[in-house]
Amino acid sequence: MTRNAQPIYLDGFATMPLAPEARQAMLAAWSDPSNAGSPHILGERAAASVAAARATIAALIGASIAEIVFTSGATEANNLALIGIARWALEAKSARRRIVVSAVEHKAVLEPAFWLRNLGFEIVVAPVDSRGVIDCAALSTLVDEQTLLVSVMAANNETGVLQPMSDVAAICRRSGALIHCDGAQAVGKIPIDVVDLDLDYMSFSSHKMYGPAGVGGLYVSAAAPMPQPLHFGGGQQSGVRPGTEPVPLIIGFGAAARLACDRLDADAGHGSLLACRLLAKLDEYQVACRRITDDASILPGSLSLLVPGVEADDLVALLRATVCISTGSACTNGQVLPSHVLTAMSMDKLEASSVFRVYCGRYNTEAEIDLAATFIADACLRVRHRSGRPDQ
Ligand code: PLP
Repeated sequence: MTRNAQPIYLDGFATMPLAPEARQAMLAAWSDPSNAGSPHILGERAAASVAAARATIAALIGASIAEIVFTSGATEANNLALIGIARWALEAKSARRRIVVSAVEHKAVLEPAFWLRNLGFEIVVAPVDSRGVIDCAALSTLVDEQTLLVSVMAANNETGVLQPMSDVAAICRRSGALIHCDGAQAVGKIPIDVVDLDLDYMSFSSHKMYGPAGVGGLYVSAAAPMPQPLHFGGGQQSGVRPGTEPVPLIIGFGAAARLACDRLDADAGHGSLLACRLLAKLDEYQVACRRITDDASILPGSLSLLVPGVEADDLVALLRATVCISTGSACTNGQVLPSHVLTAMSMDKLEASSVFRVYCGRYNTEAEIDLAATFIADACLRVRHRSGRPDQ
């Protein structure tokens, strides 16, 4: 690979490449000053563009236009859902003080949830099985008449595992608990209909679906309480999320959502074929790897692989200029901690240190996958030799 060659990008869990159509739509949008609240022709055009994007995004998830709140991304949407609903409950003098989250939620759910202990909420963590699928029997014992909100993600960002959202929603309904779903990894990649799934709230993110980073949103069902705002200002978006809308980003997001509507099946088929091809190639090169999600349903194109004896962080570092992949481990105070997702799946530290994640997306080609497999196989050998465990 030459010095300036682009590496093969297989890190779509972290962020997706920008769709050329979204880029094109934004390029045009950056040219005009655009404040959707301005009382002139440019303001009107900006407001119309925001409304069109909102309608496309609403259609993608089966929502109504009025049920979409734009945010800066899924982190903000998750915070708005959890903290905003907790504040609503306090103001409405609801006696419900329990919030249930799954053990494999993204930190953008876990952190605001744990912070809510400061406001007197009890946070309960629902377990998952060894594949990373939520244990619905356990969940139903944790959700009761004291439960305000349950937050479960649609698809996990380390494993790609899809959660049984309809079953989770049914459990919540039995006790009158509200349900929030972090849909950041799922929206735009698999069919999601918020009405069929019976969700009250769902977060989503543009850059996880080939749109620009810096914009996302929260679905708030018309039948559910409106979260209390986290910010205060000019009253945009009915005050629930004030601030001047980033019109070009929203236009790019809308373009990405339109593409997702059109290409959902084609993208899923393409991603799955590439993932199978990568596995077959690794097998051909005798890389002994195991899919940690076993027989669980996963996002098409996603792979979470364990290669015994290979430190995944070393593998990722060795491949950094040729193949972009990643692990879920986190470095805190100089210490590498196993991912909370893998720990929740009952993996020990050693196993967890050998897991990396791959996402084969819309723009990957078979030739790239074949080349990536040779790089990965070679890097696995080198990491093993370095660590003195060449035969594993
Ligand atoms: N939720 C999940 C499941 C994610 O994977 C991510 C991003 O990695 C987020 C939330 C945060 O999304 P954003 O980058 O839009 O804030």
